[in-house]
Amino acid sequence: MKVLVLNCGSSSIKYQFIDTVQELALAKGMVERIGMSGAVLSHSRYDGDSIRIVAEILDHTMAIEYVLAVMLSKNHGVIESKDDIDAIGHRVVHGGETFSGSVFITDEVIKTLQDNVELAPLHNPPNIKGIQAVTRLLPETPQCGVFDTSFHLTMPAQSYLYGIPYELYKRYKIRKYGFHGTSHRFVSQKAAEAIGKPLSELKIVTAHLGNGCSMAAVDRGNSIDTTMGFTPLEGLLMGTRSGDVDPSVILYIMGKEGLSLSEASTLLNKHSGLIGLSGESSDMREIIAAVNDGNKKAKNAFDIFNYRIRKYVGAYAAAMGGLDALVFTGGIGENSPEVRGEVCKDLEFLGIEIDQQRNANKENLISTDGSRVRVFRIPTNEELVIALDTYEIVKSKQTA
Ligand code: ADP
Repeated sequence: MKVLVLNCGSSSIKYQFIDTVQELALAKGMVERIGMSGAVLSHSRYDGDSIRIVAEILDHTMAIEYVLAVMLSKNHGVIESKDDIDAIGHRVVHGGETFSGSVFITDEVIKTLQDNVELAPLHNPPNIKGIQAVTRLLPETPQCGVFDTSFHLTMPAQSYLYGIPYELYKRYKIRKYGFHGTSHRFVSQKAAEAIGKPLSELKIVTAHLGNGCSMAAVDRGNSIDTTMGFTPLEGLLMGTRSGDVDPSVILYIMGKEGLSLSEASTLLNKHSGLIGLSGESSDMREIIAAVNDGNKKAKNAFDIFNYRIRKYVGAYAAAMGGLDALVFTGGIGENSPEVRGEVCKDLEFLGIEIDQQRNANKENLISTDGSRVRVFRIPTNEELVIALDTYEIVKSKQTA
């Protein structure tokens, strides 16, 4: 089956056209600056051919029209007719408490997503726009939704409830949801395959470290805790997000600086984390370069980033009562031997022993042969998970 995977943001759409049999992206690309002047579509094909188109792209429907046109084009395309797209898989950020797995999209599902908009006011509205645009452009093509939150719905109440009045959970659905679920699910499954045991027999900690960062405790295939919370702000230090912070600090700063709710949100989401601490950059490559130049603030940011991850490795090993594997993924997790090395430093007591050579060589298994806990570096592939889920759902509908 050939699935067009769409990740619709407020002003951008990322896409991949995936052949689920070969598990291969036949084409991928991105539309940026939707609704702004000088929107850009960049498209590349599996054989290396690529094209960049600058155009006035006013909304999500028009953006998807452009994507379809380039996919159909004689010189850069990968399909002969729109019917070659068997299904569409959407990345949807927030499924709330309703969606514990991926779903076939119906009017009822769209209605539920609209009801959940308050939980993800930045992310869910463009996801819904993308679904509606496809409904207009390809009315006969089945669509599925794959949620960032679903994988974590197995968390027990002791993990997902906050220590605030229970009534607020009931009234506003305030609880830990967690994100990056498709990535945590994918890399924990890959780690189990590499170990050669079923996921149902393993205790795995996964660390997705990109611009946004989160970890999960995957106990016999189920997420039992994760570092992101009600929103993606909780937990690890990130490129521009603070991660864990005493809530009183926020109230105190708001009082001292006279900040509004949205200004406080911008402070914590956009001006904190690596950029806030270092004053240099939110990009880990630049932080590492600054550390190597002797920049003390960048060193603080680097140390705090790694320390928090190490702390959660210990916490999640305790939460699961054991640990078989630790997995690094995401732009930083996959590419930074420095971060992986620092996180795993002095964790021999937990059974974690890194092989420095394997770590530096970017091998997939980076622990020593004697290490009780296997440590992996596994490239994530969220688009492939979305395509495969879509395939499964559509196939089961067709055979039903
Ligand atoms: P997103 O979360 O937006 O998908 P990515 O997963 O691509 O982002 O991760 C982006 C992060 O990965 C950036 O902080 C970037 O600096 C970091 N990164 C990429 N390559 C390297 C590298 N070789 N060493 C350290 N960090 C890297």
